[in-house]
Amino acid sequence: MTETQSDNFDAIIIGAGIAGLYQLYRLRELGMTVRVFEAGSDVGGTWYWNRYPGCRFDSESYSYGYSFSKELLEEWEWKEHFSGQPENLKYVQYVADKFDLRRDVQFESRVSACHYDEAAGRWTVTLENGDQATSRYLITAVGVLSVPVMPTIEGVDDFQGESFHTGQWPHDPVDFRGKRIGIIGTGATGVQAIAEIAKTVGHMTVFQRTPNYCAPLHNGEITPEEQAEIKASYDEIFAKCKTSHGAFVHNPVREKAVEVPPEEREAFYEKLYGERGFSIWMGNYRDIMVDEDANVTISEFIKKKIRERVKDPAVAEKLIPFDHGFGTRRLPLESGYYEVYNQENVELVDVRETPIERVTATGIKTSDKEYEFDYIVYATGFDAVLGAFNRIDFRGVGGISLKDKWVDGPRTFLGMQVEGFPNMFTLVGPHNAATFCNIPRCIEQNVEWVTDLFRHMQAEGLTSVAATKEAEDEWTEHVHETSERMLFTKVDSWFMGINPNLKGRDTRKFLLYAAGAPKYNEMCDEVAANGYKGLTLSA
Ligand code: NAP
Repeated sequence: MTETQSDNFDAIIIGAGIAGLYQLYRLRELGMTVRVFEAGSDVGGTWYWNRYPGCRFDSESYSYGYSFSKELLEEWEWKEHFSGQPENLKYVQYVADKFDLRRDVQFESRVSACHYDEAAGRWTVTLENGDQATSRYLITAVGVLSVPVMPTIEGVDDFQGESFHTGQWPHDPVDFRGKRIGIIGTGATGVQAIAEIAKTVGHMTVFQRTPNYCAPLHNGEITPEEQAEIKASYDEIFAKCKTSHGAFVHNPVREKAVEVPPEEREAFYEKLYGERGFSIWMGNYRDIMVDEDANVTISEFIKKKIRERVKDPAVAEKLIPFDHGFGTRRLPLESGYYEVYNQENVELVDVRETPIERVTATGIKTSDKEYEFDYIVYATGFDAVLGAFNRIDFRGVGGISLKDKWVDGPRTFLGMQVEGFPNMFTLVGPHNAATFCNIPRCIEQNVEWVTDLFRHMQAEGLTSVAATKEAEDEWTEHVHETSERMLFTKVDSWFMGINPNLKGRDTRKFLLYAAGAPKYNEMCDEVAANGYKGLTLSA
């Protein structure tokens, strides 16, 4: 343990990803002293940790970047419609340099505890190395998908070759040429990684438990003409995102799938299948995510596409989802994913048919066969939304633990505050529209709302802000109520806090916010306009 050092700040922010950096920028404008603690050795968050092959945006690049600086928008040129991880990390680094943000960030500093001192009205933040700092305000910017989860398969530590979790990928690229690879997981990450690794791999075996519906990303380079067009239309791009449920550049059409003639519907699906990004998910008929009959029509369309693209009918059937409808789990976007299974050197193992028994010193043993590998890749996902909170010992008024408070599922006000935890803000926290969003768009809203609140408190000479129990109960009820009609609450996925690798964590409570970013923004604005109704403000 290093010598304990003591530091006092107006605000401490946990995390130097997209959210933490923007919050730092805004709080500096208010003249506040700020310290950001970041576990990694550089800025970037998601784009710092997820360096796996194929990692890239599923959002149109030009809808993803920060919108707050005209100069930044003018200077930065995205090279691809859906930019890749190396470029995305460079972007965040560029922003940090441009606004001189690094000087308030302490890297390689993982926070282990945050305790509220009621008498002093301050938070004490403890790092893993024992160092401490205090602040009046505590802001978590810990990410939605930042705690990687390994599968609970026997023998994972026995493997003598190299293994990698996609969310903790090495900084030096891994060379797959001529190697035998086993990869577990076919979510949005696995689908990206498999398509990229397949380009150079010696032999790859994909272990799939649940097939997902995937749709083409249609990435491409941005031409100089497109670049000029993008730069000229940033205002419209961001205005469009403001009207969209998930803050993307896609909005559902007015018609309902169940009300249009089948040929017209088929032609529309065909058109969407040829469009970029989440058009087919977010720009579809407005009933596909709420009406099972409507959902069946698009599910069948995608199944047909899988059968067309995969040559071996038996392999195609294995890739076809059987337990959920299109888009009810997060839609993976792909670039040649299905064609990978037409390669001679790629094998698909359905682990429901032949379960994995254990990882061995040389590979993976299923009920059917023993596979030998040089590398094993775990694309097995994250302890979503709650994981990053649960690994920090948050203690509020009277020593109450956040983990205990949330044991039956999160309870929040606006997904940004928690009763009993004064002066603490959870950017992109559970029940917050930002968890189900083209994330920087919703991050900017969260940060600006918190900043406006601080500005108001400064002006009024106030120093304490706490959510009331009534406000928290009401918001939590609203989150559950509005999620009920959505089909994705009927299906097992990280949206519902379900991860079979995390036993005892299955509360089946919706972790996100289903009523959409526009509704969420409206409700946050309403709280502010009504003198921060639901919050107790005091000096
Ligand atoms: P995920 O969606 O949770 O997928 C994990 C995969 O691992 C699933 O296929 C899961 O199977 C499988 N798995 C886990 N444990 C297993 C076990 N013991 N045996 C066999 N299979 C096992 O995680 P993810 O793919 O990392 O994606 C998480 C989220 O990250 C996405 O939903 C998305 O929001 C985000 N993401 C975004 C982008 C982007 O924007 N560009 C890219 C990648 C990811 P089951 O389904 O059967 O559990």
